[in-house]
Amino acid sequence: MPAIGIDLGTTNSLIAVYRDNKAELIPNVHGDYLTPSVVSVDKEGQLLTGRPARERLISHPGETAHAFKRLIGTNKTWKLGKPRLRSEELSSLILKSLKQDAENFLGETVTDVVISVPAYFNDIQRRATRSAAQLAGLNVIQLVNEPTAGAMVYGLNDTEDDKKYMILDLGGGTFDITLLEYFNEIFEVHASAGDNFLGGEDFTHLIAEWINNETKTRFNIKLTAEYIYQLAEQAKKSLSDNNSHSIEIEKDKSLTITNELMDEICQPLLEKLRFPITTTLQDADLIPDDLDDIVLIGGSTRMPVFREFITRMFKRFPRQSENPDHVVAKGAAIIAGLLTQNESLREVVMTDVMPYSMGVGVYNESNSERDIFDPIIERNQTIPISRENRYYPISDKQSAINLNIYQGESRYVENNLKLGTLRLNIPKKGDDRFVDVRFTYDASGILEVIAITGTGTEKRLVIEQTPGEMSKEEIEAALEKLNNIKIHPRNMDKYRAISSRAERLYEQSTGENRQALANFIQEFEILLQTQDIKKIEKHFEDFKQALDDYEHQEWF
Ligand code: AMP
Repeated sequence: MPAIGIDLGTTNSLIAVYRDNKAELIPNVHGDYLTPSVVSVDKEGQLLTGRPARERLISHPGETAHAFKRLIGTNKTWKLGKPRLRSEELSSLILKSLKQDAENFLGETVTDVVISVPAYFNDIQRRATRSAAQLAGLNVIQLVNEPTAGAMVYGLNDTEDDKKYMILDLGGGTFDITLLEYFNEIFEVHASAGDNFLGGEDFTHLIAEWINNETKTRFNIKLTAEYIYQLAEQAKKSLSDNNSHSIEIEKDKSLTITNELMDEICQPLLEKLRFPITTTLQDADLIPDDLDDIVLIGGSTRMPVFREFITRMFKRFPRQSENPDHVVAKGAAIIAGLLTQNESLREVVMTDVMPYSMGVGVYNESNSERDIFDPIIERNQTIPISRENRYYPISDKQSAINLNIYQGESRYVENNLKLGTLRLNIPKKGDDRFVDVRFTYDASGILEVIAITGTGTEKRLVIEQTPGEMSKEEIEAALEKLNNIKIHPRNMDKYRAISSRAERLYEQSTGENRQALANFIQEFEILLQTQDIKKIEKHFEDFKQALDDYEHQEWF
C-alpha cells in the first residue's frame, strides 16, 4: 500500500508518495506537480478540473469555480451547468483527479491517504474535508495540519538536533503559525494559531481594488473584475522577482506598481498577521529569541512585503530553503509513511495540538440572556486528548439538561462556533441529578462528545446535524449526482487546456494577433475532431510554443 500525502490547497493541490526513504511529488497528466484547485463546465456540460479549468477563469467566470476551499463546510453552492455543487463536491473532483494521476504514476490503486488542512481549520471544516475525500473514493488515515507537515520536511533535512521552529504558512486563502520543537527524532508541536480568512488571494484583491480605482480615475476605463484580478495576480507575482512592475491597461496607458506601494496598499493585511503570531508565542510561553529558525512555507511567502514584515517583526531573516509550494504535500507523504510504519521512519515520532478550545455553554448568573463558555479542552493541548467535566441543573424544577457544544476562545458563547446540542433527561430528585461530559479530540483534530447522566443514560453528539455539514444521506445523494456528471476525459485534458488558454489570449488581444489566434484555435479544433492522436500531439507542441512566445511578447 503506497504512503500517499495530499495537499488540498486553496489555489493549487499536490499529491506525493513516500518511498525509497524519501517523499516524492507525483506529476499530473500535464507533467506539473501543481494542479490548480479549479473546476469548470464546458458548453457540452462536461466538467473540467485543474489546468484546463483555470484557463477558463477569465473567459468563462460564471461557469468556473475556484478558491472553494475557503467555503468548505458551508451551504454555499456553485452552479456549473445543470448541477449545483458544494465546496466538498468540487474538492472531491480535484481529489479524484489527483488520485487518478497517482494511480497512473504508481501503477497501483490509491485509497488510503493523509490530507493536510490549515492548522486553524475548525471541526466543521475538518469533517467537510473528510467528506470530500469520501466522495472521491479515498479513505483518510489522518488529517494533518499543514505547517506541521511542512516542518517534517525541514526537521528531517536538518543536521542539527534540538531546534525550536516557528513555521509561518501563508497560502492562497489561509495563514497558519505553528511552534514546534525537534529533538531526537521527536517532532513536538507546542502551539498553533492562525486566520482562516487571510491569504495570498486577499493581497491580490487589494491590488485589484487599487488597479480598478486608478484605471477609472486616471484613464476613465472600466475593465471586467476578472481581468483586473488577473492583472493584479500577475503584478503580485512579478513583484516577487522585481522591485517594480508595469501594468499595461491599453496602448500607451499603463500603471506602475512597486514593492513600496504594494506594502502601503496591503498594510491592513500585514497588520492582521501580527495577532496570531503573538498568540502562538504566548501560548508556547516563548519569546522570539528562543526560536532557532523562522521557516516560511506556502506560495504567498514569496512576497517581499511579507518577508520584510516578518524580518522587521523578528529582527532577523526567515528561512526558506525548500520550495514553499511543495513542502506540505511532501510532509503529508512523510506522515503517511510514519503512520503506515515505513521502516526508515521507525524512530520518528510526531505530536500535534489543536489550536481551538472546546467546551459547553453554562448559565450566566449576572445575565441570563448571555451564556458563558466553559472550556473542557483548552487550546494547544497535545492531541489525541480526552477530558471530562460534570454539570448540574441550575434549578430544582429541571427535568433535563441542555448541553450546547462550542468551539472558540470567547467568554460568551455567542462569539464562538456552535457545533451542536445534546439534551439529557435527569431524575426529579436524588444524587444522580448531573451529567458527565467527555470531550475527545482524535489525532485528526476531530471532536467526539459523549454525555452520561448520573443514572447511566449515554448520548453522543452527532455533529452531522450542524448546519453546513453534509449528512450521510446528503453524501449518498452527492455520490449519485457526481456519478451522473460527465467528466472530460483526462487523456484529452492537456489539449483542452491549450484551447482554453488560446481562447483566453484571444479575448485579451486585438487586431492581427487576435486573428492569428483565431486561426490557430480553429485549426486545432478541426484536428481534435479527427481524434488522430499522433497528428494532434505534433500540432500541440507547435501550438504551445506559439502561445508561449505570444505570452512572452515574442510573437511577430
Ligand atoms: P496555495 O493555496 O498554497 O496553493 O497558495 C498559493 C498562493 O501563493 C496564491 O495566492 C498565489 O497567488 C501565491 N503565489 C504563488 N506564487 C507566488 C509568487 N511568485 N509571488 C507571490 N505570491 C505567489
